[in-house]
Amino acid sequence: MILTKKDVPNFLDSLKNNYQVFAPVKQDHYTEFKEIENGADAVLDYSNTKTPPKKILFPQSEKLYCYKVEENGVQMEEKADEQQKVIFGIRPCDAKSFTILDKVFDNNKYQDPYYLNRRKNTILVGIGCNAPESTCFCTSLGGGPFDTTGLDLLLVDIGDCYLVEVISEKGKNMLTSCKEAGEEDKKKASQVKENATLTTSINIEGIKEKLDNNFYNEIWDYISEKCIGCGSCTFSCPTCHCFDIVDETADSGGCRIRNWDSCMFPLFTLHGSGHNPRPSNKERFRNRIMHKFNYFVETNDITACVGCGRCIKNCPVNMDIREILEEIQGLEARSVS
Ligand code: SF4
Ligand code: SF4
Repeated sequence: MILTKKDVPNFLDSLKNNYQVFAPVKQDHYTEFKEIENGADAVLDYSNTKTPPKKILFPQSEKLYCYKVEENGVQMEEKADEQQKVIFGIRPCDAKSFTILDKVFDNNKYQDPYYLNRRKNTILVGIGCNAPESTCFCTSLGGGPFDTTGLDLLLVDIGDCYLVEVISEKGKNMLTSCKEAGEEDKKKASQVKENATLTTSINIEGIKEKLDNNFYNEIWDYISEKCIGCGSCTFSCPTCHCFDIVDETADSGGCRIRNWDSCMFPLFTLHGSGHNPRPSNKERFRNRIMHKFNYFVETNDITACVGCGRCIKNCPVNMDIREILEEIQGLEARSVS
């Protein structure tokens, strides 16, 4: 199918009749996913958004429920139904990140109704990366600039228009007014895909075992030395999912609220007794790497990193997860202490 670039604003406006539409929107010198008022607000020639679109399905702060204390007892407030949503222009790495978050919020032990309600009511329309950034390393994690994992449609920019690849029935049903792609369009799309090369690749093969065997290695002391524990890496990561739940109360009622949290903060693991099992940046930084490349692989058989590069770009002290993984790869299979 073909969607011409000049028709995109109208296409998005027509989607707004049935869906809440989110798309990348220009903010000063960066782009962010926002709910759009007008189709013309969407910016599709962006490199990558500053923060990932995970906040649409897993908000940074969310009221799980609220109640009122009345004369005749406690009354629960009704939650509004979730609207159908479209996330338009999502990058393949971010779409793949939702398939990783699914394993956290929908598994044999736990099903999170808040996330799942939104997830099942959301269509993901991806846009391939013709020119990946220097910080991208998705191909090292099994993804790619035109990977379709988790997507319903994928747009490939071929000049004046997008070639639209249909991935799911849900996606197909959205394309009622698009014309079929011709042979020339398909040729252009193949060429674009061929030209989209990444500048970095890292070898993560066997990294889980290296981490298993080097938990106490002194490497963690110097790797973590310059980390200031700001949490920016975790808040800008599409697969990080730690949260805290707080109760806010007043005489007339209250709310239970879920907020993002970060394993890079000391308070995250502080026990009521005052003991902290991860007392310094060293243990916290090690945990972040262990969680993504060892613990998550152990429990879910997949790495909890999609190689989007945001933690590299957003770290104020220039920590680069690719360099850290390379250091770990350089370790002996079994460390002495
Ligand atoms: S963004 Fe950088 S400095 Fe901040 S917690 Fe993460 S690694 Fe440490
Ligand atoms: S760890 Fe870094 S590169 Fe990997 S998904 Fe998270 S932000 Fe992206």
